[in-house]
Amino acid sequence: MKRFEKKIWLATPTMHGEEMKYVQQAYETNWMSTVGENINEVERIAAEKAEMKYAVGLSCCTAALHLAVKHAGETLYGKPAISHGALEGKRVFCSDMTFDATLNPVVYEGGIPVFIDTEAESWNMDPVALERAFELYPEVKLVVCAELYGFPGRIDLIKAVCEKHGALLIEDAAEAMGATLYGKQCGSFGDYSAISYNGNKIITGSAGGCLLTNDIEVANKARKWSTQARENAPWYQHEEVGYNYRMSNVVAGVVRGQYPYLEEHIAQKKAIYDRYADGFADLPVHMNPIVEGSEPNYWLSAMIIDRECMCKQVRDDFSALYVKESGKTCPTEILETLASYNAEGRPIWKPMHMQPMYRMHEFITRDGSGRAKTNAYIAGAVSDVGADIFERGLCLPSDNKMTAEEQAQVIEIIRSCFD
Ligand SMILES: *Cc1c(COP(=O)(O)O)cnc(C)c1O
Repeated sequence: MKRFEKKIWLATPTMHGEEMKYVQQAYETNWMSTVGENINEVERIAAEKAEMKYAVGLSCCTAALHLAVKHAGETLYGKPAISHGALEGKRVFCSDMTFDATLNPVVYEGGIPVFIDTEAESWNMDPVALERAFELYPEVKLVVCAELYGFPGRIDLIKAVCEKHGALLIEDAAEAMGATLYGKQCGSFGDYSAISYNGNKIITGSAGGCLLTNDIEVANKARKWSTQARENAPWYQHEEVGYNYRMSNVVAGVVRGQYPYLEEHIAQKKAIYDRYADGFADLPVHMNPIVEGSEPNYWLSAMIIDRECMCKQVRDDFSALYVKESGKTCPTEILETLASYNAEGRPIWKPMHMQPMYRMHEFITRDGSGRAKTNAYIAGAVSDVGADIFERGLCLPSDNKMTAEEQAQVIEIIRSCFD
């Protein structure tokens, strides 16, 4: 097999031309600012698509999560003193196998993330482990839950557990725009939800994000906070701290031009997933699980290698080694082999409870066996689901623009690792 001349990427922006029309309009009308028609339109479309009443256009999804976390904190615990966070010293239950942007804002506000293990059947937050967490810490009032790779987990059950315990839910739907569970859009389950237009997401503005809510008070507050918290006065008047988080009207032009292609992108991503599933049908692997009643957006295809076909693999914080065995492989071998052909894969998002900065934080599993042992599965105690998926799983090249021929070669390369 030949090395790919043109690199095969994990996920890159896919432009269509209409984006430039709206960017041009912003330029010609001189709305080169954080005000303008493109922002208004993005907010209208985002709210409509997600089936939420209000969307607030922001500089990124992380900003949306921050404003959500701050608002939730003030609602639950009152307004903090000026230089204190809204969650100062409070525990917050957070997804464990996610990108760290999901919970960074909890830390910005002084909260203490407590990580909830992942469910093997969905690769998302385990509702059983969440229920257990509430038994251990009944005082907790906030849950931040992300959908992984565009494949919804049981966010409906997560929501029900939150309601039972009187907790607010923040849904990080950054990766899951357009995905549904029982016909309901991801981004519509949370009391607050966030979506992302980052460059590698299903549609993009090069950057940007929205906060989604059904509560007009939340939307108004987020708009105010995102524009430096100016009071309604003739001069700059301030009663609370503000942020420069508003979406640019130029970025909004790109997002506006992308929205009509959301369904097309999802169809392309689904075709990529289906081709992998076919290509690996006779291998000892499984693709990302699809929960019954869900329709993913298929943003990133990923797979997990069956335990008995894993060769020995050891990782420290910065590197990985493996011992090749006939008929067996591991994510490290597959990723290195793909790279040698100029194709980009990626390890599964490393679980938060395994990150150096969170080593001392609590991690709650379904059976309560406590903190991770990275090699838990070797001992037969598969209680740390996140560590296990990280050990055996990997993200596959999932770029919309990869051709069927290119993907056929990617599949052949991966199959060769099982020789
Ligand atoms: C990309 C991503 C974010 C951050 O989105 P930005 O718009 O880049 O801030 C947050 N959470 C998850 C799960 C993501 O994948």
